[in-house]
Amino acid sequence: MTLRFYITSLLSLLLLSVAVPARTAEYELLYRATISPDSEVARVEIRLNGNKLPRRLVLHLNPERHLKVRSDAGLTVEDDRATWKPKGPQASLHYDFVISEQKASGSYDSLLTADWAILRSDKLIPPITVSVAKGLTARAQLQFELPSDWSSAAPYASTSDSKHHYEIVDPGRLLPRPKGWLILGNITSRQDVIAGVDVRVAAPAGQGRRLQDTLAFLAWTLPDVKAVFPGFPDRLLVVTAGKPMWRGGLSGTRSLFMHGDRPLISGNRTSSMIHELVHVATGINGGKDADWIVEGLAEYYAANILWRSGALSDLRYQQTLDWKEEWAGEADTLFVKRSSGPVTARAAVFMHRLHLALQEATDDAAGLDDVARELARDRGRVSLSQLQEIVHALAGNKVDVDALIAGLE
Ligand SMILES: [Zn+2]
Repeated sequence: MTLRFYITSLLSLLLLSVAVPARTAEYELLYRATISPDSEVARVEIRLNGNKLPRRLVLHLNPERHLKVRSDAGLTVEDDRATWKPKGPQASLHYDFVISEQKASGSYDSLLTADWAILRSDKLIPPITVSVAKGLTARAQLQFELPSDWSSAAPYASTSDSKHHYEIVDPGRLLPRPKGWLILGNITSRQDVIAGVDVRVAAPAGQGRRLQDTLAFLAWTLPDVKAVFPGFPDRLLVVTAGKPMWRGGLSGTRSLFMHGDRPLISGNRTSSMIHELVHVATGINGGKDADWIVEGLAEYYAANILWRSGALSDLRYQQTLDWKEEWAGEADTLFVKRSSGPVTARAAVFMHRLHLALQEATDDAAGLDDVARELARDRGRVSLSQLQEIVHALAGNKVDVDALIAGLE
């Protein structure tokens, strides 16, 4: 063997080893929804494409809204579970989704009209658990088929492929799934980049008279929200609409809904817009007995961010805190399944006291921002014991969470 031949062989061997495919593979996952005012249901297709596909998908259905689940092969449906074992390289599952949902109050939190639809993509596509081979990942997209004069807004970047076509990001999930609010149809919207966040506010056409005010309010307050929560999503969609949509605010992933009649700042100087922004920022949930932590943080910052950004003087901020303290007196405990009204006021008062206690114990080195950031780190479920650990790490034994809770009596 000549030296040259030897080197050539070695090189080709090296190249060969580089060319050997890594043990990762990708498949395409397309969520496709056809929506038209002619039909009260969205026709949904989940389409998989790839040499390797997941072994099994289990869809956790809402039997009142996900109807007629069907596939050519590998599907069994039992009550609220549809188990699908797709056969590649191409496989499809179809179902119908009832778009409008009326709450007990008579208003809607999801609605299809002749001109537009407002709904949540995480209801359109139900939660799905998946079994996949190690290293198999999905490139997920969401696509709408709409009447030709309809537009769409979703909290995702558009793909360059076609209209109403979005690239889904869902970090840390084996099966990326679209989440958050959507508005489709004859709509009006305004857009800007605020503190590095691509912000879009949208409403049905004819209901957009406050879009610029809303965008300006976000330009005023979002930088302070992001200063507390640097992990704020890179995209935010704010959907607003009037009657018959539900008269409140509801956060979703990278998005929120706010009723068009709601003021940006209420008479008692808190802001439900900032409250919902904090939910978007933290992405946390409380589970049993810790909902007050989630709601208390949102409600604390709903006034605190106004004060911090200069929209409230010290005097007016103090008055808001006093009012919250008074309202909090109507609640006996923080530990309820769903925190609202006086319980949330009590939780916000706790957060304020915790902030003061941390400042005092650490000579202003730590405060509630540090606690909030840490709670939001994993964007998951939070608990009282986690809160206690965070406070202990910041201030040792100098701040006693239990004593602060007891002191609310
Ligand atoms: Zn809330």
